[in-house]
Amino acid sequence: MYFNTHIHTFRDIDVPRKFLPLGLVRILASKPGYFLTAKFLNNLNPFSDNDLFDRYIKFVRIGKLGSQRKIFENCMIFYPEGTQFIILPMDMAYMGAGKVPREYPDQLKELGELNKIYPQIYPTIHIDPRRPKVLDLLKKGVDDWGTKGVKLYPPLGYFPYDERLYPVYEYCQKNNLPVIAHCSPYNPVHYKGSKKDIIKLLSVSHTPIETKGKNKKELCSNFTNPLNYARVLNDFKDLKICLAHFGSEYMWEKYLTEPGDENNWFVIIKDMISRYTNLYSDISFTLNNQEFFPLLKVLLSNDKLKRKILFGSDYYMVETKTNERRFSIDLRAYIGESHFTQIATTNPKKFLGI
Ligand SMILES: [Zn+2]
Repeated sequence: MYFNTHIHTFRDIDVPRKFLPLGLVRILASKPGYFLTAKFLNNLNPFSDNDLFDRYIKFVRIGKLGSQRKIFENCMIFYPEGTQFIILPMDMAYMGAGKVPREYPDQLKELGELNKIYPQIYPTIHIDPRRPKVLDLLKKGVDDWGTKGVKLYPPLGYFPYDERLYPVYEYCQKNNLPVIAHCSPYNPVHYKGSKKDIIKLLSVSHTPIETKGKNKKELCSNFTNPLNYARVLNDFKDLKICLAHFGSEYMWEKYLTEPGDENNWFVIIKDMISRYTNLYSDISFTLNNQEFFPLLKVLLSNDKLKRKILFGSDYYMVETKTNERRFSIDLRAYIGESHFTQIATTNPKKFLGI
């Protein structure tokens, strides 16, 4: 039995207007909008990246399928029967990107209903510490919606060591709920408010941060720096945490050309997962790039590291780059059954405490 430890099924109605660049969410949502954007992009640059545009269209279409069930079924078909999936919802109400059409608890409730139809899913709950009474929401999730873990997305504007998260960690540690945290820099999904607001949010940082000459994306990367988790890991010795995306494609690429750079997040994460017993990393999204398959295989030959890597794809975010087949078949075939079983069965079971 395999696990895909990182997928999404949230819908268009869970996403604020400024979620995709250029306001694409709203524009692509309507047929005339799609037509006009296609025409506009083609006129703008006859050599424009139609591939990227097509992928965005596919991404938006999946989000508009009408139910989390349909979105999930679109992913499920690529995996052997019996595969289990950790589903990560998103609370995007506090990212300064405009109003989210549907209330966050309704997204969680729908996910809970999906869990009744498909017992092979593990619903989680994204905790944004700016939402009031998050601990109550988590408890309700566990009682009513089948919640089996917590998701963090720090680039939306909070630090993992935020004090408001401490009761959540306490509860997770006590109830054997793992935490999955987004951990890649320069992501297009980040706090969308003003630079002044971001600098204010960053002012509670425990380490000095250089803000001069940095754009919003760069500034928001500070929230999600893997080193921020050292404090949480020390304060919660039994809490299981997964740093998602293993530092990102950007960092893997950089590592292959400058392997000596100690500030590379790939290097930092590799080091941290070897050192901290309960820290893991997943390969979701990042391994859409087939050029990284050899490096992954090399990591899996290390006895310590191979026990700390989780198989996840980041469906359907990864549709903006490739399709699910890359993860479900190509990657599995490349690394071979024994490695695949390690990252898709053995490690996820340990991570989930089952
Ligand atoms: Zn994701």
